[in-house]
Order: sequence, then C-alpha cells, then structure tokens
Amino acid sequence: MHELTILQAIYLSLERVARQYGARRVVSFKLEIGEMANVVPELLEDAFKVLKAAEPLLKDARMEYEIVPLTLMCLECGYTGPWRDRTVACPECGSAIVRVIDGEDILLRDVELDVPEDHEEDKG
Ligand SMILES: [Zn+2]
Repeated sequence: MHELTILQAIYLSLERVARQYGARRVVSFKLEIGEMANVVPELLEDAFKVLKAAEPLLKDARMEYEIVPLTLMCLECGYTGPWRDRTVACPECGSAIVRVIDGEDILLRDVELDVPEDHEEDKG
C-alpha cells in the first residue's frame, strides 16, 4: 500500500524529531500532500491506524492533512497556476516547457510533541 509506505517515511521523521526533543509522544502533526503524490485520503487514514497500533510514539496522535493542488509555471508565457485536464502543459499557450512549482511533495508540518518537563538536553 502506497499510503503506508508514505506514512512509514513520515514516521521516521517524527521519530527523529521526538528523539531530538526527548518527547514521549507525538500529539499531532500535519501533512501537506501534493496532488501529484496520488494519495487516497481513506487509505491514508487506514494506514495511520495501522501505524498507530504498531508505534507507541503515535498512540494518541492526531493526523491532519491538506491536499496541495499541482501548480505550474510556464517558461514560455509566464502563466502560473493550476494545471487543467490533468496534462502537465501550459493551459494558456499549450507549451510543454513548464515547471511544477507546487503539489508534488509530501511535507510534514506543525508537529506537536509531548515533552516531559524534566527532560534534559541530550548530552550526546
Ligand atoms: Zn504558457
């Protein structure tokens, strides 16, 4: 399942951040999911349940996500905006010389951690 693979990668980032701050739990996090990443929200929710059951760090975590539409920039006519007809070409002039400037990646944002108050800085 594509979505589980994505979340496992996200989990590795969360785990790294949690370790860095000495957190016991991840309270919540937010994903910005590019339209081009082809994530199915229902499958993402299912994958998150699987991961929550497996990883104590995520036991009570909340996941939010937002689908970021694909945005093109045309290098011929300067059009910047959403694609149309699911074709990666400029909707204004039809040029294929376009750059995707948003909507491809999956980004982790707004991670909230449960950090014990007596946590001391990691001494290495
Ligand atoms: Zn154009």
